[in-house]
Amino acid sequence: MMETHKDVSADGFVIVGEEICERIISRADAFGAVEAVFAAMARGDAYNFPVVREAIGHADALYGFKGGFDRSGLSLGVKAGGYWPGNMARGLTNHQSTVFLFDPDSGRLSALVGGNYLTAIRTAASSSVSIAHLARKDARVLGMVGAGHQSTFQLRAAVEQRAFDKVVAWNPHPDMLPRLGAVVGELGLEFEAVTQQELGAQADVVITITSAFEPLMMADWIKPGTHIACMGTDTKGKQEVDPALFARATVFADEIAQSITIGEAQHAVAQGLISEGDITAIGAVINGSHAGRTSAQEITLFDGTGVGLQDLAVASVAAKLAREQGLVTPVVLG
Ligand code: NAD
Repeated sequence: MMETHKDVSADGFVIVGEEICERIISRADAFGAVEAVFAAMARGDAYNFPVVREAIGHADALYGFKGGFDRSGLSLGVKAGGYWPGNMARGLTNHQSTVFLFDPDSGRLSALVGGNYLTAIRTAASSSVSIAHLARKDARVLGMVGAGHQSTFQLRAAVEQRAFDKVVAWNPHPDMLPRLGAVVGELGLEFEAVTQQELGAQADVVITITSAFEPLMMADWIKPGTHIACMGTDTKGKQEVDPALFARATVFADEIAQSITIGEAQHAVAQGLISEGDITAIGAVINGSHAGRTSAQEITLFDGTGVGLQDLAVASVAAKLAREQGLVTPVVLG
């Protein structure tokens, strides 16, 4: 039987700007939305449409669409946007995106939602969901590899999942570390800038969130029992960790098809170290159909490639809250 719901688009569509998104979507909202959509993907209730990504031959820009439909959460739509390298010089963010949501019963536009803050918070929720479901309960030291824009979002979401008392960090550009250290201090945790080897030796949970094209963490540096969330690799050619780590770890991903093509697993698969069948959708752990971590010595690795359904899930929450709180006025297209 087709599920029905109140067609909010009947009143018109709403425009939810970046500022409203920042104000109304909490980390808990993002966590819940992302966890639910990963679970729906693993059940076969939600799927991502093929991604379109084009170098448009203008302003050096990369532009594309990430769409999907979640039959259980009833989010249908597309995130349109990309990367404009010249924006920074004009005082704008290089990454620009907008989410378009449609009513799944009528096909009418229900919301336009600014996608920049959503991207940051849904990406942070992704590694956070992986920590919640895969990290050891007694994890105390968080290792951060990366100190750019996303790093503080990943950090804030991660520390809510375990009783961390210390953050160790390394970044290819050390001058960026004090900004991350300041947020760690604000959170009341100890901070130490360390070498990559030292990071692996101390950390119980590692998050990698860089734009690297070569391994920054070698397999031997990761101690038994670690959970590592690889978040930076979202394109062919990017790489953050030694492929040999995949052979030692139990591997999970947001979406397996993306993990082996544009995610961190692309290199281990290409080198024959693992195959597609060795990767489990994190949603299976959330649904209880996979046990997840089974021992304190096991290394768990989460390949978070970033899927359109995450954006749609968080955008749906933003649109719902903005309507409920009367922060937006519906516009009728006709
Ligand atoms: P940013 O530009 O603010 O920071 C870049 C980070 O990568 C910094 O730590 C920088 O020191 C490091 N870096 C830059 N060039 C490098 C190089 N050549 N080799 C190694 N490290 C390098 O970017 P951000 O917004 O923090 O995003 C970080 C990464 O995460 C990007 O690769 C981005 O595409 C990716 N990302 C992934 C998702 C996802 O869903 N998986 C979502 C958003 C961003």
